[in-house]
Order: sequence, then structure tokens, then C-alpha cells
Amino acid sequence: MKKCIFLDRDGTINKYKELLHNKYDLELEEGVSEAIKQINESDYLCIVVTNQPIVARNLCTYEEALEINDYLEKLLFDANGSYLDAVYMCPHHPDRGYIEENKKFKIECECRKPKIGMVVEAQKEFNIDLNKSYLIGDTSIDIMTGKNAGLKTILLNTGLKGKDNNYDIEPDGYAENLCDAVELILKR
Ligand SMILES: [Zn+2]
Repeated sequence: MKKCIFLDRDGTINKYKELLHNKYDLELEEGVSEAIKQINESDYLCIVVTNQPIVARNLCTYEEALEINDYLEKLLFDANGSYLDAVYMCPHHPDRGYIEENKKFKIECECRKPKIGMVVEAQKEFNIDLNKSYLIGDTSIDIMTGKNAGLKTILLNTGLKGKDNNYDIEPDGYAENLCDAVELILKR
């Protein structure tokens, strides 16, 4: 079985911008390409799990949301050859009733964090030992997802810095940014 470091996307890899839906607004956080390179050179997989309700809100199409992920991968690769082993994205949102919404994606799904659908899908596809794996993110939703999935969790001081006020939950560890979090894991 493989070990994995699951990463949140917005606020963890790229700078947090509310409802980012244009790939050219993507900007990497400091040092993330180096951090991801470190993961690539370790025995951990590097897999992104991201909620992107921008599709359900009709700010862009599903295909355009995929393009944003592709562009993120390009930015990482162009920086230093670092790469993501996979990206799992939830395009859904449960709250219906907005004029501009895309109803097809306005559903109560099993993938939207803090549900663990994306982690379970990755676990099956890559044969991951969740007990030896981590989730790094910038919100209490990420920490709750990790806890729900049996992962160890690290909360970052980037992006929303855990101040999203969704869940009152303690992570297993804290780190200043992705670089420090990866160092914390790989030093063990
Ligand atoms: Zn979903």
C-alpha cells in the first residue's frame, strides 16, 4: 500500500482568492513548488482534493474548472518539474435556489469536503494506506475531512488560516506554510 499527502488547493497551493474562476488569477503560494517537489522525491503520493462550487454557481463550466487545475499543474511543472499524482474536484453545492445556478451540480453529493468521497476514490485508485497518510489544508473543513477519513492533519497559516468558522476542531499539527508542513512530515 502507498502513503499519500493529500493537499487542499486554494489557500494551500495557490493564494486564496474567493471563488477564483479564471485560471489567470492563479498565483502560487511561496515555496509550494519546492514543497511539492520534496513530496515527489519521497515515498508519498501528492494528491489534491478540492471543493469548487464555482461550477454549481455557474461562474464557469465544469470543463473550465478542469482547465484551472491543468493550469495549476502547468505552473508547478514550469517552476521546477514538480507534479501532482492526481487532482480530485467536487464541482457541487447543496444549496439550491439561486437564479444563476447550474442545477445539474446543485446536489447533495458524497464528494464535497468534509465528506470523504474524494479521499475514498483516491484510496481505491492508488491503494493508499489512509492511516499512514496526511491531509494539509487551510480551513477547518480540511481538518474535518482528514479526521473523517482517518488521516493525520496539518493546518496552515496561509489562505484562511483555519479561521473559516465552519468546525471547532483541532488539527494534529500546525505549520506556517506548505513547505514547513511537508518538512514536518518528511522529517518523521
Ligand atoms: Zn461533490
